[in-house]
Amino acid sequence: MVRKELEQYLEFLEISGIQDIYFSKKASAEKVITAKPSAFVSNTKGQKLEALQNAYKDCQKCELWRGRNKFVYGNGNPDAKLMLIGEGPGAEENATGQVFVGRAGQLLTKMLHAIHLRRDEVYITNIVKCRPPNNRDPLPQERAACMPYLLEQLAIIQPELLLLMGKVAANTILESRDTLTKMRQHTHLFQGIKTYVTYHPSALLRNEHWKRPAWEDLQMLQRDYEALT
Ligand code: SF4
Repeated sequence: MVRKELEQYLEFLEISGIQDIYFSKKASAEKVITAKPSAFVSNTKGQKLEALQNAYKDCQKCELWRGRNKFVYGNGNPDAKLMLIGEGPGAEENATGQVFVGRAGQLLTKMLHAIHLRRDEVYITNIVKCRPPNNRDPLPQERAACMPYLLEQLAIIQPELLLLMGKVAANTILESRDTLTKMRQHTHLFQGIKTYVTYHPSALLRNEHWKRPAWEDLQMLQRDYEALT
């Protein structure tokens, strides 16, 4: 398993254009691995993401693979300035391999439209890429197992703003146990990226009263997004 993960990591580095790896041996740095010059070096962000999606689609790093019909890696603009992160795939996503395609997805599309954004302008993904059974929250060990994939997506896309949708996404990314209400009260920094927290669209379908505060979150995000462009 360790060997497989190392191979995947090396493949990611190669795809990302990193050809040499050094490690510190006492005081001196020694080059230990020289990756072959790769045809991937000049690849676009979209091609890098596609290569990683193919590399991980049969992942078995946590138990969620057992319920997987389709691996749900992420969709959208690889050059996006805004990346949205949800919790995990639901039934429709597991059936299609696309993120946010059910009722929650339709609502998300409308929410983005309300702040003058199209889905193909942003990149959308989840904390875990395989569906948790019965839509339960992904367990801490499942989130930890899948986190390297999300970090790779962030490293490739390099968004300038993040929107974390729901408590699971926010608690995981911000390494916080705070309530969603508390986390929404201000912006955060994750790896130097300005990060907003709001409700998950599924929660908004369950509770109409949260739509107003969610709209306020989106308006603040919109101001920052428009300042970028
Ligand atoms: S949820 Fe992530 S870590 Fe777990 S099996 Fe799926 S891709 Fe692998």
